Amino acid sequence: MPRLVMKFGGTSVADMERIRAVAQKVKREVDNGYDVAVVVSAMAGETNKLVGFVRDAAQPPGCDHMGLYDAREYDAIVASGEQVTSGLLALALQEMGVPARSWQGWQIPIRTTSAHGAARIEKIETANLEAKFAEGLHAVVAGFQGLAEDNRIATLGRGGSDTSAVALAAALGAERCDIYTDVDGVYTTDPRIERRAAKLHRISYEEMLELASMGAKVLQTRSVELAMRYKVRLQVLSSFVDAPGTLVCDEEEILEQNVVSGVAYSRDEAKVTLLSVADRPGVAAAIFGPLADAGVNVDMIVQNISEDGRTDMTFSCSMDDLPRARHALEKAAESISYRELVVDDAVAKVSVVGIGMRSHTGVAQKAFQVLANEGVNIKVINTSEIKVSVLIDRKYLELAVQALHAAFDLDKAA
Ligand code: ADP
Ligand code: ASP
Ligand code: MG
Repeated sequence: MPRLVMKFGGTSVADMERIRAVAQKVKREVDNGYDVAVVVSAMAGETNKLVGFVRDAAQPPGCDHMGLYDAREYDAIVASGEQVTSGLLALALQEMGVPARSWQGWQIPIRTTSAHGAARIEKIETANLEAKFAEGLHAVVAGFQGLAEDNRIATLGRGGSDTSAVALAAALGAERCDIYTDVDGVYTTDPRIERRAAKLHRISYEEMLELASMGAKVLQTRSVELAMRYKVRLQVLSSFVDAPGTLVCDEEEILEQNVVSGVAYSRDEAKVTLLSVADRPGVAAAIFGPLADAGVNVDMIVQNISEDGRTDMTFSCSMDDLPRARHALEKAAESISYRELVVDDAVAKVSVVGIGMRSHTGVAQKAFQVLANEGVNIKVINTSEIKVSVLIDRKYLELAVQALHAAFDLDKAA
């Protein structure tokens, strides 16, 4: 039988009524003749609530040790949301006469690295699932989680159920991986910020990868990486309306290609500057080594040499990583030797993405001019072959996204 992976996000499984609606959609595909593996997220808001419990337990009110907690226990706690929804959906399917069984990451098993809280899937052993398919039993898999090398539950980073779904589709050789969510496809920008955002019928893996890694949370970055690598046909569509979604596919499958495909943003960024660092070989390694060891995901980096032979080093990271970044740099203060650590925790990142930038010049200049016209100051710039990103004050985020979206005519895209 052909196989299909269907993934439902948090809002799609927010309560029993929605879980029953999901079961109906799954039943339809079962009736179409597929062996189905459904991947579910936790109910909407549940993972945030669990993360809140962790913070409270590890950093009680009034405590100032900066939210550093044991990532193994974080994983044990936050993975539990998906356990509930996988069981509930299996029951709802059974009630509809569809034989189904729930699976936790460790039961399949989905093997991951030991980077707790941000683990990567290394291997999915599909024999157990396949044996059950052969018995006519469909699978409901708890997303977001796997089994780490240390034999403990590991989670895949926020939004990780998308990655569970794509990895499973690749391992099972599924015909397609359908990601059901609360929007009916991938838009030119987040429709919550720009109501004129247009739905894209198709988007290339590469552009989707760049949009996702720049903050468009409709798909987790790693899920797009895996889809691209294993050529998984990935579709994003709505749980609530029956409408064609967006197909993520090879560039060659797209006929009309705009220079710019979309605008992405990441709201909760921080800018960190080390003032007056010695300008000598090894100083960058002395700074970014401890940050890497602390698991800080450094994004943009700027170095400015001043006339006195000292240098200012600026980088950005997510607000989530800021406590660890600060802690690591304060611990390494002696070996780095800087005058002051300055943090700007009110910045956001906006990015313009498009494959057409490879062959068209002037996109960056146009983006800078648009922001200048709106009086938005650019704090840091970063570019790649198909992207221009800027760090700006968070209060201008909506304005910047809307202005760029309009300037690149994205409301007319499709
Ligand atoms: P789920 O819980 O189903 O995984 P997410 O909240 O993770 O859903 O992702 C869907 C959300 O992504 C949408 O509600 C939308 O606000 C946001 N989003 C950001 N950028 C885009 C985009 N370019 N296209 C569509 N949705 C986007
Ligand atoms: N429940 C997890 C989260 O909120 C994983 C997911 O929904 O993809 O991040
Ligand atoms: Mg998501």
